[in-house]
Amino acid sequence: MLVVSYIVYLIASICFIFGIKKLASPKTARQGNQLAAVGMLLAIVVTLLDRRVLSFEWIIAGIIIGSAIGAVFALKVKMTGMPQMVGLLNGFGGGASVLVALSEYERIYFGNQQFEVNTMVTIVLSILIGSVTFTGSLIAFGKLQELITGKVIKYPFQHPLNALLILGVFVAGVIVVINPSNIELLLIITAVSLVLGVLLVLPIGGADMPVAISLLNSYSGIAASMTGFVLSNNMLIIAGALVGASGIILTIIMCKGMNRSLMNVVLGGWESAGTSGPSKSVSSPKGQVKSIDSEELAMLLDSVSSVIIVPGYGMAVAQAQHAVRDLMTVLEKKGVKVRFAIHPVAGRMPGHMNVLLAEAQVEYDKLLAMEDINDDFPNTDVVIIIGANDVVNPAARHDQNSPIYGMPILNVDYAKTVIINKRSLNVGYAGIDNELFFYPNALMYFGDAKEAITRLVNELKSS
Ligand code: NDP
Repeated sequence: MLVVSYIVYLIASICFIFGIKKLASPKTARQGNQLAAVGMLLAIVVTLLDRRVLSFEWIIAGIIIGSAIGAVFALKVKMTGMPQMVGLLNGFGGGASVLVALSEYERIYFGNQQFEVNTMVTIVLSILIGSVTFTGSLIAFGKLQELITGKVIKYPFQHPLNALLILGVFVAGVIVVINPSNIELLLIITAVSLVLGVLLVLPIGGADMPVAISLLNSYSGIAASMTGFVLSNNMLIIAGALVGASGIILTIIMCKGMNRSLMNVVLGGWESAGTSGPSKSVSSPKGQVKSIDSEELAMLLDSVSSVIIVPGYGMAVAQAQHAVRDLMTVLEKKGVKVRFAIHPVAGRMPGHMNVLLAEAQVEYDKLLAMEDINDDFPNTDVVIIIGANDVVNPAARHDQNSPIYGMPILNVDYAKTVIINKRSLNVGYAGIDNELFFYPNALMYFGDAKEAITRLVNELKSS
């Protein structure tokens, strides 16, 4: 390999590392993405030139078709469909690792070359992890896209069967490493790993799937890293390790935000999640619900000095972010201090609310993380909740029977008045009722978020 290739790989790796660093803040995230994309371009170009490729026809055809599909996806997929899109792309990454590992095995096997132990270990690991990622991601995609049921799917002897299969492929893997010419066993490992991906992801409830996708993303990175060892390609090792590590960190952050253990998600524990209706053990809150219309709400907001807006999944569904920005602007013009409280798992993917509000040109310094704003609610005149439900459910603080008990929530009920905008009293993601709607300081402002907030903005403008 040419020295210049090593240097370009090093530059590309630096682009990836700084790219990920820049993703940590919405201000620099776009730049981070571009920097990482430049790194990837450098890595691809230098690899193609360095490997002395004999014919470029198939590669160019692949680039054109792949880029066209990618561009259509990027333009067409809605923000709410992003988790399944990421899931699908992870799956392709895992599938690619399997194909590269198998072709490397074939090259050595049919070239009558000597198998080195470390090459065989990484080939087996690439195949194992890549196959699980491939089929697991396809099932995750199918669940989120509602091509198959999103419910928890249990099957007989689920845990012992999976444990047996995992143990089986590991033992078979060791045998293949010791005796690399056992091609049939390698193919059996591939087939069983593909089946394992399906069996491991089927029991995960569709609503837990974003966490599973984040975990599969991590797996796809580890598989790519293993493939890097197979090909002795440092760039692939580094890039794969970065994806593997960042994926697992994100998975842990999501689990903490939902107060779930990773095991609980992976084993499909939160059965009520994503299904309709509360779980049996949880008592439904009762009492009188008070509602408010746009005219009354505009009058109320005319006399306040501080407002915190809490966006949730409903804002994303209604695509109400621009109307919400207009609400912020009109309130600020009236001298009201407006800030946004962002729960780490509001919406359906990490950073969901930040992305939408940034798209609507809301300044980043107005978006405050839960831990930075939670103490400010008691000193706030009005909280306006827009399509959020679980992340503001006080049952998480005190109801030990609630499936969300222990999940950190935004303390909106401590504010003087809480306005809740949603279409009905329906449940959110966790499938449980929300007692907040019945609190004495709570007022329901019913309607689709975009329509209701636009109506409110017009009332405020004319008052
Ligand atoms: P929820 O899912 O709890 O609630 C969303 C609410 O939005 C619903 O109750 C619905 O009520 C309302 N809604 C739907 N459409 C509209 C509309 N057009 N206009 C107004 N309201 C609407 O959302 P939260 O953001 O509060 O909580 C996120 C949940 O997702 C948490 O439980 C979290 O654990 C989970 N989760 C989050 C992930 C993440 O990474 N962010 C990943 C995985 C899970 P109605 O039908 O009455 O309008």
